[in-house]
Amino acid sequence: MGVSRRNFLKGSAIVAGAVGVAALNGNQAQAEADFEAAELRIKGLQHTTTICPYCAVGCGLIVHVKNGKVVNIEGDVEHPINNGSLCSKGAALIQVVNNDLRLTKVQYRAPKSDKWEEKSWDWAIERIAKLMKESRDNNFIKQETIKGKTYTVNRNEGMAVVGGAALDSEECYLLGKFARAMGVGYLEHQARI
Ligand code: SF4
Repeated sequence: MGVSRRNFLKGSAIVAGAVGVAALNGNQAQAEADFEAAELRIKGLQHTTTICPYCAVGCGLIVHVKNGKVVNIEGDVEHPINNGSLCSKGAALIQVVNNDLRLTKVQYRAPKSDKWEEKSWDWAIERIAKLMKESRDNNFIKQETIKGKTYTVNRNEGMAVVGGAALDSEECYLLGKFARAMGVGYLEHQARI
């Protein structure tokens, strides 16, 4: 029996459709299996929410912990900023937490020294506070006279503060308040530099 061109095309379309449906079913089954495997991986684990530290988008994260160790970080589907999605940097965040190269202790290199020393956090905080106080005391301008008129300015010319893109609104507010309290006039943000 001869096959007309029209019947051949019809038959081809039916076969292609059947193959497509089978492939679709296969993909769906695989997707379901992947989903179940992912669910099992974090089932019953302690979890908490946080914000990605990298950039000002501020994507929401869910962090899963097992026996005190972070075992999974993923986008928070309930977060209004990212709805669960993450960029490649955010998706690789677990490598920041679990990384042998990550510095977790204070490293200090004294002036003119060629080596790093390990110091405690208390030591570091006290030293930073001391240097800030010294800098402020040595560079504080209480009053300034312009065109014969004297103004109270309370300006600290020995310090500057630079905000980072990962700071959220509340952190920016506190940092701004702190800088003003220290008399800092040079208050900038990374995004403007
Ligand atoms: S996941 Fe990417 S886009 Fe979102 S805050 Fe982190 S670095 Fe920014």
